[in-house]
Amino acid sequence: MRITMVGTGYVGLVSGACFADFGHQVICVDKNADKIAALHRGEIPIFEPDLDRLVATNVRAGRLTFSTELADPVSKSDAVFIAVGTPSRRGDGHADLSYVYAAAREIAANLKDFTVVITKSTVPVGTGDEVERLIREANPAADVAVASNPEFLREGAAIRDFKHPDRIVAGTDDERARKLIAEIYRPLYLNRAPVMFTGRRTAELIKYAANAFLATKITFINEIADLAEKVGADVQEIARGIGLDNRIGTKFLHAGPGFGGSCFPKDTRALIKTAQDYEAPVRIVEAVIAVNENRKRAMARKVAAVFGGSLRGKTVALLGLTFKPNTDDMRESPSIPLVTALQDLGATIKAYDPEGMEQARSELSDVSYCDGPYECAKDADALVIVTEWEQFRALDLARLKREMACPVIVDLRNIYRPDEVTGHGFQYESVGRRSQP
Ligand code: NAD
Repeated sequence: MRITMVGTGYVGLVSGACFADFGHQVICVDKNADKIAALHRGEIPIFEPDLDRLVATNVRAGRLTFSTELADPVSKSDAVFIAVGTPSRRGDGHADLSYVYAAAREIAANLKDFTVVITKSTVPVGTGDEVERLIREANPAADVAVASNPEFLREGAAIRDFKHPDRIVAGTDDERARKLIAEIYRPLYLNRAPVMFTGRRTAELIKYAANAFLATKITFINEIADLAEKVGADVQEIARGIGLDNRIGTKFLHAGPGFGGSCFPKDTRALIKTAQDYEAPVRIVEAVIAVNENRKRAMARKVAAVFGGSLRGKTVALLGLTFKPNTDDMRESPSIPLVTALQDLGATIKAYDPEGMEQARSELSDVSYCDGPYECAKDADALVIVTEWEQFRALDLARLKREMACPVIVDLRNIYRPDEVTGHGFQYESVGRRSQP
């Protein structure tokens, strides 16, 4: 199968490399010439565990190539995936579809034999109809089917997710497209690809419904955490106590500083906009966004509360800046509003993140970046754990205490047990549980 992947970002590069690993012939195209030049040099422009090895193996095997031009690859492909960005549109929160439509027009001009154009980007319901209209308008003779195949991978575990998906959703009514999509994913399950075929609009909405549901689950447990704190209950045990009910499930019930990242914030915003346009508002999701927004500044107030409400003259050290571990992605990370709120409360900020500092520099000002957790903690009045990177889970607490000006740890991910931290002489605050044993 010959595949062109248009857009070589977190989704496009992972999907392209995995398809090549299945044995398909893949070319990943991107407008960003620096990205393609880096890939040609054998460098991976993003941090994603094991992606370097997967790309290198498939490049060496001749199954994976890169280009800034899509004309030639599209004309020779059986399937063309659109995996370009769909950020929030400036000003109104709708998804910005300009990259998707630009890609569709360019693809249209270069279609030759029967081709399936498949949108992998997260796009609002009805986008597939518009992509098809644009293609047919630009190239009325094209033998083409337009399908939706939303992607559910998570950054940080992207390859595993792509190769062991819970499900693959494919939206199309076209029989030839169905056969082709089943064939593309067949190596995953040999004879029976677990592709859930559905209508295009349904597939588009499944993606938003999934992300909105997960964002709701996180926000729900965050509110329960606040209540647990007030009444002296433990949110970790509540999460387990409810999660063991199969109808609820234990995943996505970790209280923390609020969700962020490149998907949940923009996708929940886009869903409420679509729902409002169709006069079927999703009020639960509207509440989720509002609650989540407030939460990030509330986390800064939690830090300030340790010092009587002000951080004037205090140095706060942050461990972790990315929205989750194992990625360098800083898009809409909760650390961004958290840093601003801490600064508003008077704090001087030091920070360390294993992979995210390069991207963080363009998002955050007046932050001193450090080379490791202990350097970050040095002379700080409070250490705030923002992202639960593996390397923060077993810090040398005695050493931390020696480095810090004031022994305060605010653990926004509940990665420590209160007794082990307070046992080292720290004041310890966490989320949704009694902080002092
Ligand atoms: P990204 O910003 O990392 O990558 C998008 C790439 O598309 C960029 O490299 C950009 O240069 C390129 N591009 C834009 N227009 C182009 C064009 N006309 N031709 C060629 N290349 C073009 O974005 P991403 O995180 O990979 O997300 C892509 C889509 O997948 C989004 O819709 C997102 O919502 C969705 N998604 C993302 C994730 C994730 O974890 N990142 C997971 C599931 C779905």
